Amino acid sequence: MKNTFNLIIIIFTLFSANLFADHYPKPTQRMVPLVLDCRSPGMVALTFDDGPSENFETVLGTLKNHDIKATFFLLGHKLEKQHHIDRALKAISDGHQIENHSWDHEDFLKLSDAEIHTQVDNTNLILWETLGVTPRFFRPPHGRIDVPSAMPIWDLGYGVALWNLDPQDYKSSWSWGPQQVFQEIEDALDGASPAEDSFVILLHDASPTSIEKLDDIILTIKSHGYSLVTLDECADTGSH
Ligand SMILES: [Zn+2]
Repeated sequence: MKNTFNLIIIIFTLFSANLFADHYPKPTQRMVPLVLDCRSPGMVALTFDDGPSENFETVLGTLKNHDIKATFFLLGHKLEKQHHIDRALKAISDGHQIENHSWDHEDFLKLSDAEIHTQVDNTNLILWETLGVTPRFFRPPHGRIDVPSAMPIWDLGYGVALWNLDPQDYKSSWSWGPQQVFQEIEDALDGASPAEDSFVILLHDASPTSIEKLDDIILTIKSHGYSLVTLDECADTGSH
């Protein structure tokens, strides 16, 4: 009888740890379900995905030289390595925003609700345990998301952050390099107005093309009359 009672206690403890434990603090900001551009015109949010990479410090140095803040969507599994944790901590101390880009870059359109939940939850947990960060947004790998696959993310209380300008810095071929990436951004800015438009730009800190042109990209964004902001500023500031 006593053994049975103990067994019940053990089972209850195991289940309650899984079901009820708050592993990490939840975001306190207003939930913005979907971000494609900014709430106010004249803003540009630079976002860097898939990091931290070997180029991370170079990107941080360039951002610091221009005194601007960006947003990094990190992969959870990378934070199992101390040198990646150190890189991310440096980004935080420089004032950049850290967000969730899944555990290991699976295609979310091919995952079950439970797998989506695990990908988002485990990444939130390691962001909290290693960096003390509570993310607010989730960016699906490759931007692959639809309403059914977004539901588990919204249920957890996180917004889905996509972009409205992709210069395709992940492409690398004889016909697509740093100049083409820069030109994509320049063309978008030339065809828009800071009085009416805003941009969330998709970049990757591992991309040599983005790294090579990051100075020029920042300079042309500024010279077109936009201010460079974090995703929080982009999603919150303004009234429409
Ligand atoms: Zn990615």
